[in-house]
Amino acid sequence: MSLALDARQRAMLAEMGVRLWAPRAPAAAPAPVESPPARAAPAPRVVGAPPAAAPAAAPAPVARPLPPAAAPAPQPAPASIALAPLPAGIDAMDWPALQAAVATCRACGLCAGRTQAVFGTGSQTVDWMVVGEAPGETEDRVGEPFVGPAGQLLDNMLAAIGLSRRAGDTIQSIAARADSTSAIGQKHQKSGVYIANVIKCRPPGNRNPEPFEVAQCEHYLRRQVALVQPRIILALGRFAVQSLLGSAEPIGRLRGRVHHYQGVPVIVSYHPAYLLRALTDKAKAWQDLCLALATVQAGAPTRDAP
Ligand code: SF4
Repeated sequence: MSLALDARQRAMLAEMGVRLWAPRAPAAAPAPVESPPARAAPAPRVVGAPPAAAPAAAPAPVARPLPPAAAPAPQPAPASIALAPLPAGIDAMDWPALQAAVATCRACGLCAGRTQAVFGTGSQTVDWMVVGEAPGETEDRVGEPFVGPAGQLLDNMLAAIGLSRRAGDTIQSIAARADSTSAIGQKHQKSGVYIANVIKCRPPGNRNPEPFEVAQCEHYLRRQVALVQPRIILALGRFAVQSLLGSAEPIGRLRGRVHHYQGVPVIVSYHPAYLLRALTDKAKAWQDLCLALATVQAGAPTRDAP
């Protein structure tokens, strides 16, 4: 993949801490397609936690379809919380019904501590979907995923390839706001991105979600993916990656390859909150973003813009 960077764009990436380098190998074609191994229970989440060191080589992937999410086994609710079953027919809900269902959901104990459920943001007819982990304190208050410094970093990185969560943004307006005269992602016909978390309600004290909570809430994410029909999913953070791919492998071993979720290509990368502390890994995150861009550009033609 060839990225045309002008001087201002290079300066913007430098401000993000992204060092540009000459690629060792062309990235025009996506990495070999791989489906994840059998789903495993996600490891405890530490938002932005550094991944384990990557080994020298990953095992050869074995392509096979991801099994559909199984209905979680009922578990007893904490005595102090009155839970309710997941609403029926999630897989057939439209956007308004799905958002309403999430807003009133009491299918796991996280409903007890939320200010509001954080459903998702951005255009709903886009090629790109970003999936994070769970709302933090600010997201819980604002009602939008990826806000604050981590969200700003994500927005800056997306803007560098011509993407924005803001409705009505165009390649040109994104480039203008980034003070750039060109946009890396000009091959996109659409500039929108939809952003959602695996978990919609804030875990108290930013604790790791329990497997039951993930299993319950994943039904909503699966429907969001089915409605958006993205051409690429960017999975950010170990917990999001493990939830989507059903793999307990660290990000360092999963990034750099194309995975799949519900038939949609998935690129694994670090959570922006981690990147704010691990400056040296920003270049890897940029590399992941470029792999996602190359995967989109090498795939089927972009859908007609809405
Ligand atoms: S986290 Fe998900 S499953 Fe749990 S109450 Fe919130 S919306 Fe429902």
